[in-house]
Amino acid sequence: MNIRFRWKKKGLIGLIAVSAAMVLGGCEMGGLRLRFFPTPTPSASEETLAQQTVLPEDTVEAQDSQTAAAQDAQTAGAPDSQAAQTTGAPDSGAAENPDSASEKEAKRALLAARKYAAQYNYNKAIRRLKKVEGYEENEKIMAAIADYRARKAACVEYPLDQITHVFFHTLVVDPSKAFDGDYQADGYNQMMTTVSEFEKMIQIMYDRGYVLVSPHDMAVVGEDGKMKPGRILVPEGKIPFVLSEDDVSYYHYMDGDGFATKLVLDGDGKVKCEYIDGDGNVLIGNYDVVPILDEFIAGHPDFSYHGRKGILAMTGYNGVLGYRTDSAYQTGVDLDDNQREFLENHPDFDFDQECRQAKEVADAMKKTGWEFASHTWGHRNATTSTAQELQTDNERWVQTVAPILGSTDMVIFAFGADIGNWEEYTYDNPKFAYFKNAGYNYFCNVDSSQYWVQITENYFRQGRRNLDGYRMYHFPEMLSDLFDVKEVWDDSRPVPVPTMG
Ligand SMILES: [Zn+2]
Repeated sequence: MNIRFRWKKKGLIGLIAVSAAMVLGGCEMGGLRLRFFPTPTPSASEETLAQQTVLPEDTVEAQDSQTAAAQDAQTAGAPDSQAAQTTGAPDSGAAENPDSASEKEAKRALLAARKYAAQYNYNKAIRRLKKVEGYEENEKIMAAIADYRARKAACVEYPLDQITHVFFHTLVVDPSKAFDGDYQADGYNQMMTTVSEFEKMIQIMYDRGYVLVSPHDMAVVGEDGKMKPGRILVPEGKIPFVLSEDDVSYYHYMDGDGFATKLVLDGDGKVKCEYIDGDGNVLIGNYDVVPILDEFIAGHPDFSYHGRKGILAMTGYNGVLGYRTDSAYQTGVDLDDNQREFLENHPDFDFDQECRQAKEVADAMKKTGWEFASHTWGHRNATTSTAQELQTDNERWVQTVAPILGSTDMVIFAFGADIGNWEEYTYDNPKFAYFKNAGYNYFCNVDSSQYWVQITENYFRQGRRNLDGYRMYHFPEMLSDLFDVKEVWDDSRPVPVPTMG
């Protein structure tokens, strides 16, 4: 196993970062400002990696399985349940014929293992095969184990400080509605990405070797409570990256603007979008990041590392995933005009049912590799808010959002507005001290450099790049590592895309 450093060591590109953290209609985009980022300290991370390479093979194996076990736990068994889905009907009739029963079991194991291996989880594939009774006597299983061992040995450890993180907002389904010249159109043109652009981007990124990973693969909290660099092992040429989507609430203000309206489960229990077209027809389909990526990965499992998908950065003030689950919809306290109008238009609104349905969708997403992060409850600017304000806000997130999405240890800052500059967070920073004590270990801001990763014993932090109209139109060269903007650009966008500020 060797460590490989792709591209050059961090040079100018890491030093100068043009950072875009912006506001409009409750989302980030905006004001361009220059900021200086030094090389994240070559640090703990690289030293640890270097030490790991000289460990005897069996120690590395042991570490592998520990990490794998920890990571399996973090995905809440996602790959297992996926495998279960692919293997279909279980033991019906198996008891009648022991031979065919064990044959069926072997076949099931081979199928499940093939899927784990396609997603580079060779340890899990091998563990699955070894669960088959008498597997040593089964030639196919032994051949598969040998094959997965060889493929694992050929993998390389990807440098964590060179992993990019891209993000989107909810996708524009109907550009004629989003870019219709009303007061929101400029903001959508700057900050949003269309369905056709997103589909082209992920196809090109897949073709270039990109593979979805999670910050939870990049850093892991050990039993001693200290954060340690993770180990991401991929075949030579594969390029791990992280993907997130912000504000997947289908806010009231977006109604009628050509976006999906909620995430729902279809008859097969798959997560899809509800979209209401111009004639008022309710359509169910792939109208946003989640179902589009689910379907793409179903056809291209090797786009996902160990079953990972993306991370949704979630506020709570308009509910989640298109469901009006905030307590205000129940209590009627402090409703804004949009919320009041919504309740007036939905006299049969059932708060408990709304929460139940939202939770079903969230549970289905978590089982298939999706993760959730806090984006603050109220889309708060964490740079300008006090620690006390962030605490009050987070308590509301924990109270009203966590019961539906589950608890999270990740904050993706609204507006990209961080609680500190590029230097390491310390406990002297009351905002960091609060978040850390409240159980948060992973933090993401917005930063347009190719990659910006900071891993210390106390936390993980990563910059994210917006792949939206503003970035594509004004800085296409900054995206050339991902795709050629000319190949993805949606001609239905009005140009020029307005500048920020
Ligand atoms: Zn946002």
